[in-house]
Amino acid sequence: MGRAAGQSRREEPGRAGRDPRGKLEFPLAPLALLARADEKAVEMLGIDLSGKRALVAGVADAGGFGFAIAKALAEAGARVCVASWPPAMGIFETMLKRGKFDDARRLSDGSLLEFERIYALDAAYDEMSDVPEDIRTNKRYAERGDFSIGGLARAWQSDFGDDSLDILVHSLANGPEVAKDLLDTSRKGYLAALSVSAYSLVSLVNRFGPLMRKRGSVLSLSYLASQQVIPGYGGGMSAAKAALECDTRYLSYQAGRRYDVRVNTISAGPCATRAASATGIIGEYIEHYAEHAPLQEKLTLDEVAYVAAFLSSPLANGITGTVVFVDKGFHAMGMSYG
Ligand code: NAD
Repeated sequence: MGRAAGQSRREEPGRAGRDPRGKLEFPLAPLALLARADEKAVEMLGIDLSGKRALVAGVADAGGFGFAIAKALAEAGARVCVASWPPAMGIFETMLKRGKFDDARRLSDGSLLEFERIYALDAAYDEMSDVPEDIRTNKRYAERGDFSIGGLARAWQSDFGDDSLDILVHSLANGPEVAKDLLDTSRKGYLAALSVSAYSLVSLVNRFGPLMRKRGSVLSLSYLASQQVIPGYGGGMSAAKAALECDTRYLSYQAGRRYDVRVNTISAGPCATRAASATGIIGEYIEHYAEHAPLQEKLTLDEVAYVAAFLSSPLANGITGTVVFVDKGFHAMGMSYG
């Protein structure tokens, strides 16, 4: 049976006795792995996000980083809301309702991950006045109310008030011409990639910063193509990720001073998500990494999500303005012999 919406895992009746130290059993899988290295230290440093509220922007199925991060945050005790792109949101809600994600939603205590709220968000727009008529009247958008970034922040404030957000995750990107070489990318396609995949973070921090509690965390997802040439990662998406990483540094300074929050980005290795499939060659990336990275194995969504949970937690209070690579070490290589 799932938890009621809004009910934190730690607040479930009868649960407290299961862990007398009040420490979270999560993360079971990484604990199991890390236990090999230093069982005791890890037990003492369990990630505890109880009492915290998170918003993960960019969840529209159970197969992406956003969902995996939402789940990891919930495992650590946070209440989690998500924001979904209107064109994908209808099917997401239907599949959720029909139980199609139940296996993926299963938490380590047997309950199901519940989202406290599911908001509509098109990160291309800061306000509804920016939305072209054909989008506004499109049937997938028409019933969604104010799906702009500004509208999302206002809806959040009306639902939860000020001082109500601890963890903001930006897990969205869109490059309509990603399959084209940069050299062949149109101005429109390039700017669309920058707008949705990079500027949206600036806009989100601008609007949600004032609603965040002190020592909150903002996190986004980047990719190595920002720094090195990755053939096939086109359409201006490489520039969008470079902007995202640069903006992470500036936002860490400005939002740090204004709101006392941290801003980081994870540079993740390739995983076969819906967005990544748009490159058309994600399978080749994954094989290439598994062959040439220092750790010769495929990266999992959970491995990225666990780092996201750590970075979002007070354990990472000393980390801001940083790009954290979670890619089995591939970024460190210049050349390998397979
Ligand atoms: P995904 O498809 O699960 O997530 C992308 C999300 O962005 C989707 O939910 C989609 O609906 C949403 N989206 C697209 N356009 C939007 C818009 N205009 N407004 C709001 N939402 C919009 O795929 P993912 O790979 O998990 O992507 C999440 C993040 O991870 C992205 O920033 C991506 O670039 C990054 N990343 C992915 C990989 C990989 O190999 N999958 C590697 C490194 C970084």
